[in-house]
Amino acid sequence: MFDDGCMMKHTSTERNLQRVSAALLTLILFTASTLPLAAEELTRTDFVLGTVCTIRLLEGGTQATLQEAFSRLQAIEQRMSANRDGTEIAAVNEQAGKKPVKVSHDTFSVISKALEYAKLSGGAFDPSVGPLVKLWNIGSGNEKVPARSAITAALNLIDWRKVELDPQAKTVLLKQPGMRLDLGAIAKGYAADEVALILEKHKVKAAVVDLGGNVLVFGAKKDKSPWRVGVQDPESSRGEYLGIVTGTQMTVVTSGVYERYFLENGVRYHHILSTATGFPVENGLLSVTIIARSSIDADALSTSLFALGIEKGMELLRQFPGVHAIFIDEAHKVYLSPGAGKVFTLTNKKYTLSEK
Ligand code: ADP
Ligand code: MG
Repeated sequence: MFDDGCMMKHTSTERNLQRVSAALLTLILFTASTLPLAAEELTRTDFVLGTVCTIRLLEGGTQATLQEAFSRLQAIEQRMSANRDGTEIAAVNEQAGKKPVKVSHDTFSVISKALEYAKLSGGAFDPSVGPLVKLWNIGSGNEKVPARSAITAALNLIDWRKVELDPQAKTVLLKQPGMRLDLGAIAKGYAADEVALILEKHKVKAAVVDLGGNVLVFGAKKDKSPWRVGVQDPESSRGEYLGIVTGTQMTVVTSGVYERYFLENGVRYHHILSTATGFPVENGLLSVTIIARSSIDADALSTSLFALGIEKGMELLRQFPGVHAIFIDEAHKVYLSPGAGKVFTLTNKKYTLSEK
């Protein structure tokens, strides 16, 4: 653990309670052992958005601030979850091929943003990936590799161009029966940005928002030292770090093979799915970390760049000045986007920095 008490673990899991309680325990131990709780510090951890979410108010804010932030997270989940009944996304999915469904401003803006990234990534990132996500059901606990025919059928339903938005009426129509939206790759980023707005409103001076490894550091620490956010070693489930990102207002978001997966015959099947093959993306990458100002962009980009791979991913990133990326591959090589070296320090000897 780190002395300044501002290192964040990249944990994200709903796949088994053991991991969740391990994460909670680490958090509690961390708080108890290394962080002399400042008089004004307030922390709350809840399971929401399918993951362990922690908000730490280091300076400013009250329990009511935390309450408002967590209520907001719950509201976002209730609107955008693809796995629960009664959400707006469930309604849109049910009406696929039938009729447009009116949604909230929240849901409408996340879908719009997701479609932007679908276009930018040439469909590697695609919020209409739902049929495939449902088929693989990774994280459910009783996964198996689906039949080829089922994969082909799911692939035939994926096409972001068939998601029709009406900005005036705020409606969403999936044009083909069987289509399904899944906002799992972007909703947590939106949620983190929304929490930041609440912190701003309550004049919080320093806070850390960790939505299952989707980290946002808010404001400035009292001693004005920069924030330090740990990037998880993608081969360790124990919260060991690969390196540290140092900076002021920023969000650090990772997509990796370790977040959610299952093993079959010794093969790992992870949760970022290729819209071309219908299988988990296989391009030698273990994880991609994005450092940015806006968490919704960072979340969409981490999944997009993971799906695109290093070369195409770096190319896409050129359209985002000021946004940094860290790619980690199976050969334990770390590839940095131009400029990322200014904010990232590799600390784990198992990995080496590479030029690309
Ligand atoms: P995490 O949610 O674990 O932080 P990501 O942001 O990378 O990780 O999102 C992965 C999730 O996105 C998957 O669990 C699934 O719901 C969805 N997803 C999987 N493949 C794609 C894809 N190609 N495009 C868009 N969303 C995807
Ligand atoms: Mg993402």
